[in-house]
Parts: sequence; C-alpha cells; structure tokens
Amino acid sequence: MPGSRFLRRSEVHANSPVFTVSELNLILLGPPGAGKGTQAERLQEDFDLVYIATGDILRKAVAEGTELGQKAKEYMDNGDLVPDEVIIGVILEGVESEAAQDGFLLDGFPRSVGQAEALEEDIGRLERRLTAVLCIEAPDEEIIRRLSGRRTCVKSGHVYNIHTDPPKHDEVCDQDGSRLVQRDDDREATVRKRLDVYHRQTSPLVEFYEERGLLRRFDGTRSPTEVHDHIRATIATLRLEDEL
Ligand SMILES: [Zn+2]
Repeated sequence: MPGSRFLRRSEVHANSPVFTVSELNLILLGPPGAGKGTQAERLQEDFDLVYIATGDILRKAVAEGTELGQKAKEYMDNGDLVPDEVIIGVILEGVESEAAQDGFLLDGFPRSVGQAEALEEDIGRLERRLTAVLCIEAPDEEIIRRLSGRRTCVKSGHVYNIHTDPPKHDEVCDQDGSRLVQRDDDREATVRKRLDVYHRQTSPLVEFYEERGLLRRFDGTRSPTEVHDHIRATIATLRLEDEL
C-alpha cells in the first residue's frame, strides 16, 4: 500500500539515523592498496555494522575458546593451515552472533566460490540475504605505485609514502629521526605476486556475485572521501529499493 509505505519512510526521516530500517549484510572486495581498510572503518561507523575480518575473527575465536576456535587452535598449534570448513564455521559464528543481527561487513571472506556458496546457503537458512558486494577497484599499476612508494620507520613503524605523503628529509622519519625502509611486503615484485593471487581468487567471485546482481563497483583511484560518498549513495539506493 503506497500510503503506509510513505508513512514508514517519513518516520524513518523523522527519526534521523536514516539507515536503520533493515539489516545491511555486506561483503567488501578489493585488491591490497585500493583503500578497503579505510572504507571498512567508515562503513562500520556509518551503519554500526559488525566488522568480520577473517584474520581478526579467527584470532578472537581462539582467544574466546569457542568450539570452532579450539578446533582452529589445534591446527595453528601444529603449524598447519586452518581448513576451509573451520574458517567458514568461524565466520558463520560471527554472522549469526547477536551483535550482527542488524548487519555485518565481511572482509577477506569469501575467498572462493565454494566459500561464497556456503555463506549463501547458511544465511539463507536464517532467512537472511546479502545486501551487496562492494568491490573497490584500482588498476594494478596504480596499486604497485601506491604500495611500492611506502616507507616505514625502522624504530616505531611510522608509515610514509614517497608519492603522496613524503617525509621532510629523504629516508628519515619526521617523528623520531630513525631510518626509513621499504618493507619486503611493499617491494614491487612482492606486490605483483600478491596482485596475481588476488586476481586469481577474486575473478570467479566477482562473476559469482555479478550473476546474482549483488556486485557494485567503486573506483579506488578516487579519494577515500569520494569513494565513501559513492558507497553511501549506493547503499541508500539499495535500501530504498528494498523498502518498495
Ligand atoms: Zn618513526
């Protein structure tokens, strides 16, 4: 009924946080260096989402000694990789937690179509669904320029970028005068390798979510604020569509 719909929406506006109508279940995709971390922080603040990053949540489950956390710990203690099914289980514990009832933001998961299918099935069982998959893109050459421009101070880990945020004096930290170095992770050859892995893992996922009409692309060469504005506008549109 159009009347009740209008009433509902005006109530939403009157109560100001505009974005608390329905749950917001998001996945964040993007290569290293495209600004995913910054956007994740802002989205958590904007929408009060539970942020589920694979590495963090695995460590947390281990620390809290949940059933799956204990399982994961066994593998980690033996120096083995934690198998897919355990990782999926830990992620799903997070998704099903009380705190994530209004929404979640997944980062670093899923990494494969198999994981994506497991996620879809599991949240489907809970009568929930993904709202969108936010993919922040940037050309490889731009990523390589950004990451290989990073310099880190050996003493306290202060980070500079010779292109965008250079130190006052070459190779010296502004804050404590110690030497700046390029971390191994930021060397061009390493960055290229990380990007190869990323593309290999991600292109099937991009296709998977595109087929489901969930994928939204964002231009990671824009400023973080521009990307953030674009994401917010996209989410606002999705939510209005959702209400209709
Ligand atoms: Zn320093």
